[in-house]
Amino acid sequence: MIQKLAVLGVGLIGGSFALALKRAGVVGSVVGYGRSRANLEAARSLGVLDAIAETPGAAVRDADAVCLAVPVGALPTLLAEIAPYLRDDALLTDVGSTKQDVILAGRAALGDRIVRFVPGHPIAGAEDSGAAAARPELFHGKSVILTPLPENRAEAVAQVSAWWQACGAEVTVMEAENHDRIFAAVSHLPHLAAFALVAELAERPEAALFFKHAGSGFRDFTRIAASHPEMWRDIALANQGALLDEINRYQEALTRLRQLLEDGDSAALHALFERAATARRALTSYLDRL
Ligand code: NAP
Repeated sequence: MIQKLAVLGVGLIGGSFALALKRAGVVGSVVGYGRSRANLEAARSLGVLDAIAETPGAAVRDADAVCLAVPVGALPTLLAEIAPYLRDDALLTDVGSTKQDVILAGRAALGDRIVRFVPGHPIAGAEDSGAAAARPELFHGKSVILTPLPENRAEAVAQVSAWWQACGAEVTVMEAENHDRIFAAVSHLPHLAAFALVAELAERPEAALFFKHAGSGFRDFTRIAASHPEMWRDIALANQGALLDEINRYQEALTRLRQLLEDGDSAALHALFERAATARRALTSYLDRL
């Protein structure tokens, strides 16, 4: 049982974590710290928070559990701000979409307290943001990846796993480097591709005409281009190396496809589409769970 949970960044993910733990009856009270007062007031009036802290230090001072849920670019400063105020027995986790940068920031700010920081990433989300978007069932049946550190004790990892299981999630453990490499391909690149396509079309003089005639294929491919720009800026920069590798591979794939089209190579085009369609159809039952 958590006596006092401090949530730093009370948005979709941090707010949903608090609500899910409250619903599961495993947290006494939740104190939040954030950037805009209006969002924190909304969080309190929606029952996400029991109290608002004026500073990051005040939020964590009496907390036995801390969840860092700001965009990953804000974490180095925030971690440095909370470090002097953490209780010796406080257990920390985060929800950042990238892991190696978060771990670097944790090591730089936390010193010996790194033993009680278990990094995590819930594979659940939405294009909506802020406390008003938070919901207790967000993580239900979803996967949460933990990337424990060599310094973490088994009890600390088990405790953070138990929090996520109380939220209804399934926990998987993975190396941080592997996490960042995989998510560059299956999450970060698709977001960049969608942002690039929509931004390019939106700049055209005839954009309104084009968008008016868009169908469900365009809707499905570009849904994620409505995602939070600040959050995605931070993710892209944090996972720059792996993401550049994936952009190169995607550009090569488009170049090959472009060549087939230029050559009018019907058989090769058909074979490529067939391979992709077979692979994508095989994923349907898995993806439908998301
Ligand atoms: P969000 O709804 O925008 O929530 C983030 C909150 O952090 C906002 O309330 C924001 O304040 C606050 N914040 C931003 N910078 C801050 C700072 N410097 N100090 C204090 N508070 C700050 O975003 P989210 O979707 O919950 O994402 C939070 C984290 O979860 C990110 O690291 C993201 O990578 C990760 N994540 C997101 C998803 C997803 O699909 N959304 C999925 C998995 C993981 P304001 O109210 O002033 O904006």
